Amino acid sequence: MSPEGKGSARRQRSRRQLLSLVQERGSITRDELGRITGLSRSAIAEGVQGLIRDSLVVEERAQSVGRSPARGRPAGLLTPSRPAGLVAGIDFGHAHVSAAVAGTDGRVRVEHREPVNVDDEAATALDTAAVLFKRCLDDAKASASEALSIAAGIPGPLDSGSHRVRSATILSSWVGLDPERELSSRLGRLVHVGNDADMGAQGELRFGAARGCRDFLYIKVSRGIGAGIVLNGESYRGSIGIAGEIGHTQLPGAASWCRCGNRGCLETVVSITEVQRQLEHIRLRNAFPDEGLSLDSITEDPVAARVVTEAGRTLGRVLAELCNCLNPAAIILGGELGTAGQPLVAGVRESIDRYTQPAIAQAVDVRTAGLGLRSELMGAISRAMDHAQR
Ligand SMILES: [Zn+2]
Repeated sequence: MSPEGKGSARRQRSRRQLLSLVQERGSITRDELGRITGLSRSAIAEGVQGLIRDSLVVEERAQSVGRSPARGRPAGLLTPSRPAGLVAGIDFGHAHVSAAVAGTDGRVRVEHREPVNVDDEAATALDTAAVLFKRCLDDAKASASEALSIAAGIPGPLDSGSHRVRSATILSSWVGLDPERELSSRLGRLVHVGNDADMGAQGELRFGAARGCRDFLYIKVSRGIGAGIVLNGESYRGSIGIAGEIGHTQLPGAASWCRCGNRGCLETVVSITEVQRQLEHIRLRNAFPDEGLSLDSITEDPVAARVVTEAGRTLGRVLAELCNCLNPAAIILGGELGTAGQPLVAGVRESIDRYTQPAIAQAVDVRTAGLGLRSELMGAISRAMDHAQR
């Protein structure tokens, strides 16, 4: 490559990095951009100028952030420029569908949720999504044309090339379906579809416990287990879009059949259904009534806490390998079981301390999702915000 070509590739890279930082943070100063990226003052100035010229970023004068001593004038706050209008997000869980309509700044106006057997009844789930979207618009007193973009997360392996669900047994009623096309035709608008754990990671990155984090794993622990991987501030989905299927990691000594067709997968030992089954032995039958639940019973009951801590240890064993490989700054635990409280976090923490390299263990913080059970829905809103911006 010629020196000019190299310079232009470098400028493009800096520009993308600066834009994604402004979008992630919502507002940021040039000095902060310099500290995070390590770019020179002139490179920041050039990149920011280009973003402002292309109407992607606006600069507001802000007294509160102080004066930039080098220039002797107030430091500007850079914010993403927001088109007027609405965005919408849809989240398919295993047993519910939810939808929300928000402003292009991400502030939710209306949100609705319905229980549906998503895994086994794809058509009903897709129809429900369309009904909830319409209900959100009606309640927001808005028309469909005001929705600039819509994104949805589904709980299964979605091929980024074919847009189809890529497993005969996971999310079986969805196999061969093109969820993007199905949803787009029902809603009468283009719907961007992605994996639910990936959406969860995006939600936590923009609005939740991963704000400001460049490298982290979001682990959705529900009926299945999936990881949303964020590296250097961006989602990593692999060559065909289905990276993060950690629920199907083989555990030594485990032998139960898994819905993927293998034996001994992590999901067969740690999942909401399996933990529920174990808790039934100690009569905590209703620890997980459907989904939005109070889990005080688990934290308060020492035997229940032990069951959940043990699930955390098993999950942590698999996460420890991922930590050794990726050296993340945080692990965010989401989903019904992931947000079940301190016992699960403690179990995960224990295994990470035990099985990762000490420096890597020290660098990683284990937390529960800041958005509780709404990480995926807010991730869909975040994705829709990104599309509205383009
Ligand atoms: Zn499996």
